[in-house]
Amino acid sequence: MSKRDYYEILGVGKSASADEIKKAYRKLAMQYHPDRNPGNKEAEDKFKEATEAYEVLKDDDKRSAYDRYGHQAQGQGGFSGGGGFNQGFDGFDFNDIFSNFTDIFGEMGGKRQGKKRSAEQQGSDIRYNLEISLEEAFKGTTEKISFKIASTCDSCHGTGSENNEKPIDCPTCKGSGRIRAQQGFFIVERTCTTCHGTGQIIKNPCKKCNGEGRVNKDRTLSVKIPAGVEEGNRIRLSGEGEAGVRGGVAGDLYVYVAIRKHEFFIRKNDDIYFEMPMRFTTAALGGSIEIPSIDGSKAKLQIPAGSQNQDQFRLKSKGMSVMNSGGRRGDMYVKINIETPVKLSAQERELFEKLDKLLQDKTNNPKSESFFKKMGEFFK
Ligand SMILES: [Zn+2]
Ligand SMILES: [Zn+2]
Repeated sequence: MSKRDYYEILGVGKSASADEIKKAYRKLAMQYHPDRNPGNKEAEDKFKEATEAYEVLKDDDKRSAYDRYGHQAQGQGGFSGGGGFNQGFDGFDFNDIFSNFTDIFGEMGGKRQGKKRSAEQQGSDIRYNLEISLEEAFKGTTEKISFKIASTCDSCHGTGSENNEKPIDCPTCKGSGRIRAQQGFFIVERTCTTCHGTGQIIKNPCKKCNGEGRVNKDRTLSVKIPAGVEEGNRIRLSGEGEAGVRGGVAGDLYVYVAIRKHEFFIRKNDDIYFEMPMRFTTAALGGSIEIPSIDGSKAKLQIPAGSQNQDQFRLKSKGMSVMNSGGRRGDMYVKINIETPVKLSAQERELFEKLDKLLQDKTNNPKSESFFKKMGEFFK
């Protein structure tokens, strides 16, 4: 099989800088990452291809060997130890969170590939939807989740066999999983119904699980949700999905995070937006007000005299936690909603009337003043 050119794979020119190469690879890796394309062989191949290209092009020595000798350089020891999946990923910030297990790509070699034909089957991946509050998303949290899931049968330890016997070749199909039958002129091949195509059977199936090697059980897990988690982020718990059939590898559990709508705060990326009702006297006179913050404390905000309705103020670093940033926070934006007083008492009314007369000297309301002036000219 002829290999594609590494530069072509990454979509960069031969003179691309290290930074350009890194950027190009990062883009492809995000797109084709196996966790984002479960069960998609083409994406997995693309991901591996891009990783191999990056492994070579990110290393000056390997790159110059490749530039000189092309793919042959590999055979001459030019790329010693190439193809390691775990290298090259340091510092990449995937949108998915991998905090609940140690090795992002650790299982790719073992689990997904090299599945031998046998009675074993890999367990399915499971999705769990978890809803948390915005406060929990800010602080990070550990959530206990409980669910029913196909788990390894204790009685047979997942083998599916009553006496722990190994599966034997299916006598009907002699282990091939297929049976051939003459039908007129044709020979038709079908999946063997005795072993359902696995080629193996268990002689004395476990009574508890009917030979499947797994039974439904309740499971409770603690899931660590990092501070700054965003809507739609998912957390993978490796091996916590359905148990495999007859000792097959377990699937993974994916916890999808949803964030409940907050009563006051609206989140946009790392920032928080907040609308604060305000008496119009405060807006006119100015003053210091207290703003509730997502961290539970109160932030002070200085309102300048003469603030207008819908004016927006920024409180630096009072927004959401930024994920994996070591405590960095976004900003909070406070918009003021100025309220006109209603149901005036006789005394208040009198004061307002006085004030109204005072304000007619036309220097305090520049917007109204210029508007009425323009309108006067318009109607002349
Ligand atoms: Zn069993
Ligand atoms: Zn069979």
